[in-house]
Amino acid sequence: MEERSRIINYSLIKKLAALNCKILANEPLSKHCSFKIGGNADFLIKISDENTLQFFLQNITDEIFFILGGGTNVLFADEGYRGIIIVLDGEFKDILVHKNQIIAGAAASLPSVLNSALKNNLSGLECAVGIPGTVGGAVFGNAGTKGSWVGNAVEKIEIFNYSGLQELISRDKIKFEYRKSNLQRCVISKVYFSLKPDLHSKNTQILSENLKKRISDQPVNFPNAGCIFKNPKNESAGKLIELCGLKGKSIGGAKISEVHANFIINTGNAKSEDVFNLIGLVKFAVKENFSIELETEVKLIRAL
Ligand SMILES: Cc1cc2nc3c(=O)[nH]c(=O)nc-3n(C[C@H](O)[C@H](O)[C@H](O)COP(=O)(O)OP(=O)(O)OC[C@H]3O[C@@H](n4cnc5c(N)ncnc54)[C@H](O)[C@@H]3O)c2cc1C
Repeated sequence: MEERSRIINYSLIKKLAALNCKILANEPLSKHCSFKIGGNADFLIKISDENTLQFFLQNITDEIFFILGGGTNVLFADEGYRGIIIVLDGEFKDILVHKNQIIAGAAASLPSVLNSALKNNLSGLECAVGIPGTVGGAVFGNAGTKGSWVGNAVEKIEIFNYSGLQELISRDKIKFEYRKSNLQRCVISKVYFSLKPDLHSKNTQILSENLKKRISDQPVNFPNAGCIFKNPKNESAGKLIELCGLKGKSIGGAKISEVHANFIINTGNAKSEDVFNLIGLVKFAVKENFSIELETEVKLIRAL
């Protein structure tokens, strides 16, 4: 406990509890990610409004913290996380449609934002079809499908930097690339999407066909974190893994999906270490066979 008290500022935790934050101590991270893997975090704290988020950031000094969205693109270590995981909640889940604009809190679910767009005949977020998780996670990692990404629809973003300063960042200051943005060392709090009226609205039908295809092409019956690796330029990571003969390869409870080789599934009792080892094996095989260095898309959050 003494060891930990050097890291965690318990008086800050007490103040956050007094501000109505939900505080979970020694919380299993497996409950908060789509992989269903990971040890315990010292604390997982749910923050419901901007003032409390600002207070947290202004007062967190030596502590280590990690901002978690829907947990659909992360792999936590078996040792868990020595520090504080923060999760946005409450007002950060709000979605407001105003003419051609959707203003979404960072904790709003991306599928709900897409639904709001479709209901209001607005187009521009079709690339989000079938992508789970939150708006904050999607914008941070510039999520997308079929060569298009959510960053294309972003007009501006509200963030808090790690000193607690709130900033409104206009589109021209944000750099979106394939599964990457320059929104580092900040907490995204609100996203303004600028969409287009879509009066033809063939959209819903095309989207439901795309969704059906995704369901048949992905291992939907097992916990996973989406594609493990980014596609190298002009290549498909899944195809390269398949050509290495690794489809179906298991280490412990982790297995390279037979449905889609760029997915690793948790067959029930996978340890994070199993997934890390499988990732290492794939990287080695692809490098040996094709001289290509695969880059992980999933964020690996190791114990500190
Ligand atoms: C079945 C399945 C299918 C998928 N398909 C796709 C796909 O087609 N395309 C695709 O791009 N992705 C896909 N993914 C991956 C994942 O859903 C996306 O990357 C998603 O956008 C991650 O959002 P999240 O809220 O879950 O983020 P998390 O996994 O919680 O976090 C991911 C990163 O975002 C950061 N982050 C989260 N919220 C904030 C915030 N408010 N401020 C600052 N940083 C933040 C975290 O710190 C972390 O570094 C899939 C995943 C699954 C499980």
